[in-house]
Amino acid sequence: MNDDFAGKVKTLFDPEREAALAAITTGVYIGWRCPEFTWDCIRVGDMSKCFCGHLLNQHAQYTGKSVKVKCAMGGCECKAFAFVPGRPEDVGEFWFQRRRDFDPSTWRAKCRCKHPHDQHAPNAYKPCKAKGCRCSQFESNFLCAACDRHWEDHETFFETEDMRRQAGIPCGQEYLPFAEMPDLRNIVLTGKEDDDSPYRALTEGEGAIPRALPFDNNTPVQFGGQKKPGFKPVYD
Ligand SMILES: [Zn+2]
Ligand SMILES: [Zn+2]
Ligand SMILES: [Zn+2]
Ligand SMILES: [Zn+2]
Ligand SMILES: [Zn+2]
Repeated sequence: MNDDFAGKVKTLFDPEREAALAAITTGVYIGWRCPEFTWDCIRVGDMSKCFCGHLLNQHAQYTGKSVKVKCAMGGCECKAFAFVPGRPEDVGEFWFQRRRDFDPSTWRAKCRCKHPHDQHAPNAYKPCKAKGCRCSQFESNFLCAACDRHWEDHETFFETEDMRRQAGIPCGQEYLPFAEMPDLRNIVLTGKEDDDSPYRALTEGEGAIPRALPFDNNTPVQFGGQKKPGFKPVYD
């Protein structure tokens, strides 16, 4: 595997690696997925963006049992954090990065009405506020890179490790990106496929996380949570 590929994979997964390590350390897991899934499409962290346009760390304090985490920014009417993709590559729009004048901070996930999420009211119906726009409910003009479904089919879940174990949803080291594929897992952690030192520190070292319960053998292995366009040939 060449360094360029490894570097790109690591960068693509930077936010999810940080979110996974934080979850494993604190025991508070935040996942974005369709409600019936037993795996997350995106691992959500403090730097993840909300539909209201503010980051998770600009919202109220949360625990693994939070249901609605409201925005703490003055004047924002958001009552419940709802993850939205914050980077074009999260929705498969890889060509943006190649534009020389592309400024990642200006990119916004968009609605079918062509207006960005943060021009829609962050309430239950999420109507568009752009002048003259008749859009009465946000509908994503993009599909999730992990499951190919629309944004509005997903929810953000705050969970404890126990809640996830009981529901058969990955936690502990199983929550790391590419947990089932050591080479890719190492790349996401270190940028190098043969460097498993952080993984071993995490699973064997002091403060090592408890071994996850064995997964039900009747459940097919799910790679869906790791699926990203552009890297399909690796595991399809
Ligand atoms: Zn807000
Ligand atoms: Zn919000
Ligand atoms: Zn709209
Ligand atoms: Zn609109
Ligand atoms: Zn999805």
